[in-house]
Amino acid sequence: MSEKNLVVGSGFSGATIANLLADKLGEEVLVIDKKSHIAGNCFDYRDENGIMIHKYGSHVFHTKSEKVWNYIRQFTDFNTYMHKVLGVLNGIETHIPFNFNTLYDVFPSTFAVKLEEKLLDVFQLNAKVPILEFLKQDDDDLKFLANYVYEKIFLYYTIKQWGITPKEVDDAVTSRIPVYLSKDNRYSQDRFQGIPLEGYTKTIERMLDLPNIEVRLNTSYNDVKYGNFKRIFYTGSIDEFFDYKYGQLQYRSVNFKLETHNMEHYQSNAVVNYPCNYDFTRIHEYKYYLNDRSDKTVIAKEYSESFEPGKNERYYPIPTNENTELYKKYFEDAKSLHNVYFLGRLGDYMYYDMDKAILRALELFEEITKTN
Ligand code: UDP
Repeated sequence: MSEKNLVVGSGFSGATIANLLADKLGEEVLVIDKKSHIAGNCFDYRDENGIMIHKYGSHVFHTKSEKVWNYIRQFTDFNTYMHKVLGVLNGIETHIPFNFNTLYDVFPSTFAVKLEEKLLDVFQLNAKVPILEFLKQDDDDLKFLANYVYEKIFLYYTIKQWGITPKEVDDAVTSRIPVYLSKDNRYSQDRFQGIPLEGYTKTIERMLDLPNIEVRLNTSYNDVKYGNFKRIFYTGSIDEFFDYKYGQLQYRSVNFKLETHNMEHYQSNAVVNYPCNYDFTRIHEYKYYLNDRSDKTVIAKEYSESFEPGKNERYYPIPTNENTELYKKYFEDAKSLHNVYFLGRLGDYMYYDMDKAILRALELFEEITKTN
C-alpha cells in the first residue's frame, strides 16, 4: 500500500489539504495542477510595471472565522485593505451594496430623508435585507425604492452575470449583496479582511513549500490516475472525474480584458460595477489592492460568459434545481469510492469564497484524522 497522497489542484482547497497532510501527519503528498502555475483562480503576478495583477479577477480575502484567519496567517501577513465597491447607476457613481449613503446619492435629500425614516420603521438599523425579501413592501414609497434597487443594481447585472434574472437564480446568490440599513460602505463586515502582502501565489507557494510535498504543473488527473495512492483529494470538477457519465454540470465563466493606461489611476476605486450600462459587469483596477506605485495603471473589464470545456475556465457553479439534482448523482457515486475526497468550488459544486474553501479543507482534515 502506497503511503503517498494525491491532491488534484493547487488552489486554496488543494494547498490547504496538502499542507496539513504533509505538515501535521508527515505524509508524502503529490500535488498536480493542469495549469502552468499554482494557486488556481487566486493566481496573481507582478507585471512589468510592478503592479500585482489578479489574473482571474479581484480576490479580496475576508472571513469571520478565527480558525481560518489563524491558519492562513502562518503563511502571509495581510494589509488593512477593506473592500468597497462603487457602482455607476445611470451615470451616478455611488456605493454598492445599496445603503443609506447610496440612498442620499441617488435621490433628492427631502425624498431620501422620508425613505430613510420609513425604512427604519420597517427594519432595524444595521439590518441586512436580501433584495428578493426587500421587494415585499406594502408602502408605496418603499415599493418604489425596492423596485429601483432591484432594477438599477440587480436585474441587468444578474442577467449579464448569470444569463438569468435575480428571480430565477438561487436566492443565495443575490443574498450575498443584501441591502444594508447602515452607512457602512464596506462590501463585507467580516472581522478579518485584507490582501496578502506578497500576493496569493506567494502565500500558496509557502503552503506547499515542505520537503514531503511534490508539485507537478501542466499535469492532469488522467496523467497520474493509475498510480497507487493512499488517498486522493480532488478539487477539479466532480463531473469530469466521472467522465461526465450523467452529463455536464454547468458553470459560468468570465473573460477579463486587460488594458494598460498611461495614468496614475483610471477610476476612483478598485472595483466599479456597471449594473445598468455596457456589456461588461465591472472594471477592476488592480494597483489599489497593494497600493502599488507606478505612473501606469492596469484595469480589467469583466465579461461573463458560459463555460465551455477547452474554451475557458470554470468560475461559478450555477445552483439551479437541474444542476443540483445532477450534482447529487455524482455525489452519491463519490460516497461509494474508498479514500477519494472531493472538495473546493468545483469538487463540491459550491459557490465558496476563499475562506470557505480553506475552512472546508481544514474540516475535512479533522474528519479524516478523527476516523483514521
Ligand atoms: N449583484 C448584482 N449587482 C451588483 C453586485 C452583485 O446584481 O452590483 C448580484 C449578482 O447576481 C452577483 C451576486 O450579486 O452575481 C453576487 O455578487 P458578488 O459581488 O458577491 O459576486 P463575485 O464577486 O463572487 O463575482
